[in-house]
Amino acid sequence: MKILTFDIGGTEIKYALCDENFNLTEKNSIPTNAHEGGPKIIERVIEIIKSFSGIDRIGISTAGQVDSVKGEIVYATDTIPGYTGVKIKELVEKQTGIPTAVENDVNSAAVGEAVFGAAKGYQNFICLTYGTGIGGAIYLDGKLFTGNSFSAGEFGHIVTHKGGKDCTCGGNGCYEAYASTSALANAVKEKLHKDLNGREIFESFSNPEIRLIIDEWIDEIVTGLKGLIYIFNPALIVAGGGIMNEEYITQEINKRLQNELMASFRKVKVVKALMGNDANKLGAAYLASQL
Ligand SMILES: [Zn+2]
Repeated sequence: MKILTFDIGGTEIKYALCDENFNLTEKNSIPTNAHEGGPKIIERVIEIIKSFSGIDRIGISTAGQVDSVKGEIVYATDTIPGYTGVKIKELVEKQTGIPTAVENDVNSAAVGEAVFGAAKGYQNFICLTYGTGIGGAIYLDGKLFTGNSFSAGEFGHIVTHKGGKDCTCGGNGCYEAYASTSALANAVKEKLHKDLNGREIFESFSNPEIRLIIDEWIDEIVTGLKGLIYIFNPALIVAGGGIMNEEYITQEINKRLQNELMASFRKVKVVKALMGNDANKLGAAYLASQL
C-alpha cells in the first residue's frame, strides 16, 4: 500500500510517501502561507496529491481540532484564518478519489508513538508536547480518546495557578503559561533579562541562577502531571517537544513523581517521545492504512 502523508502546521506543510512497512521517503515541505486561509491550503494539498500517481490512501495530520469521523476542522485559532469548518476529507476525496484520514496533530503524534515509538505495546498512556504551548493526547484501551466534541486532552489549559498569568485561551493561570518551553524562556527573561531559547538555557545549565529557574520550571511540569496521573492512572507518559531531548528534565520529573505521588500511582514512567518530526506523518499514515 502506498500512502501519501501530510503534516499541516502553522508555518509549514510537510509531506512524505509511506510504504507498507511505514518507511517514509521523498520527504518534502512547502510554506503553509497561513494568511491565504484554510481553503487555499487544502487546494495546495490537493495539487501535491495530484502530482503523485498510484497512491492508495491519504493521511493528514493537521493543526486545529478535528472531527476525525467527518474529517473536518471543528475549530482552529487565527494561526490559520478561515480554517474552522473546512471539510478536508470531503474536499480531498471528491477531487482525488483516494480514501483519506484526517486527525489533529497531537493525536496523530500519539498514534505515531503508540504504533512505532516510545509507547509501543502500551494500551493506556497520555502524551504531552511542550513547546510554545502544551498540547495533549489521550490513548485509552488501545485507541485515541477524543471526547464529546473531538477536543479532549487540552492539558495546556488546566488551571494550575488560580488568578495567575494570562493565557492565549483568554483565561489565566493555565498550565502552559507556567510549564511550556515558552514559559521557561519567559522566566529567564523576567528574572535575568536574557533572551534565550530552550536549548540556549540548557547550555547555561552550570549557571546556578539558570539552574534554579530550570528546577522551578520542572516543578511546574510535575504539578500538572500529578493531576493527570491521578485522573488517568497511566502506565506511561510520553513527553514531546524539542526541549525534552534534555535528559535532565525527564530524569528529574520521574524522581520528583516518585517522591510526591501516592504510592499506588508510582509505577508510571515519563519518557521522551522518540519519533520526533516524523510522529505526526507516521500516525496519520497509520490511521489512513486502517481505513
Ligand atoms: Zn489557557
